Amino acid sequence: MIPLSQPQWQTETWQQQLSGAFRSLDSLLAALQLDRAQAPYPLDCEPGFPLRVPQAFVARMEPGNWFDPLLLQVLPQARENEPSPGYSLDPLEEARSNPVPGLIHKYRGRVLLIASPACAVHCRYCFRRHFPYEDNQPARADWQRAIDYIAAREDISEVILSGGDPLALNDQRLKELVLTISEIPHVERLRVHSRLPVVLPDRLSSSCIAALSESRLQTVMVIHCNHPNEIDADLAARLGELRQAGVTLLNQTVLLTAVNNQPDTLCRLSKKLFNVGVLPYYLHVLDRVQGSAHFELSDDVARALHVQMMETLPGYLVPKLVREDPAIGYKVPL
Ligand SMILES: *Cc1c(COP(=O)(O)O)cnc(C)c1O
Ligand code: SF4
Repeated sequence: MIPLSQPQWQTETWQQQLSGAFRSLDSLLAALQLDRAQAPYPLDCEPGFPLRVPQAFVARMEPGNWFDPLLLQVLPQARENEPSPGYSLDPLEEARSNPVPGLIHKYRGRVLLIASPACAVHCRYCFRRHFPYEDNQPARADWQRAIDYIAAREDISEVILSGGDPLALNDQRLKELVLTISEIPHVERLRVHSRLPVVLPDRLSSSCIAALSESRLQTVMVIHCNHPNEIDADLAARLGELRQAGVTLLNQTVLLTAVNNQPDTLCRLSKKLFNVGVLPYYLHVLDRVQGSAHFELSDDVARALHVQMMETLPGYLVPKLVREDPAIGYKVPL
């Protein structure tokens, strides 16, 4: 175990940092100087959706604080195992818009490609925690099926690389994938939905930025940041390079009890994002997935928070408050 006072991970490659991510409760708690016996809420020591969090993200947590807003997003709690009525395993029913392995086509003109089923961090509230990833591990043959699907439909103008986390692919695969997509004439835009830049900023290496930005496609990156403490100088510098390369930067946030359900936190997040060149895009209410009920806020509370943001911020810093509905082909405003 590497004590945070000697952050050896800072000199490692992103792949080394990824494989060196915390995967055990004991090592994570030790790094944060937390004593398991003192936990103010019951923990889950053997979660079905395993603990995973890179050191670079843990370094932004406050040692000794069980209620750190970054820690709460990754720490498995026993309440995840309580059955909650109205919460399902596949709340978005993505299985039904999954025409070929690794591809979800639910919204008109856009397809979502599960470029990599892996994630660098396991967010406890994640709606994909029960997604059949094993069936969506795109092998090269599956890429081809997904590419053929897109190539055969001229109304598809945007391809969204998602996951899991698409930036878990190595730069070579990423480059090949972007190139292949850019060879489909009717595709105009490439979008990347990734939490990796936030949890492991070194992932945005110059070759990664080149792979994403050097095709003929217009490129948009949607990062996933839930709390202002997630933005540090390292992330700011990498995002600056992405912007220099002509990539449009947006952010999506999930509203989470005890993490960001305060108007001041959300307003600080918007301002801090803008300071690093990112526009707030979506503020999602939680998808009702089994295991995440303790993060939920009522719709009334969500709307009230959103109104407080509108009262405080310039319009362009107020994200759209939305919910995903399995039957509707767009993110539905609350
Ligand atoms: C969110 C989402 C998109 C993208 O939606 P935008 O409103 O364009 O950001 C596309 N496909 C699926 C399945 C999605 O969930
Ligand atoms: S990074 Fe995204 S897909 Fe992966 S666990 Fe977190 S929220 Fe889910």
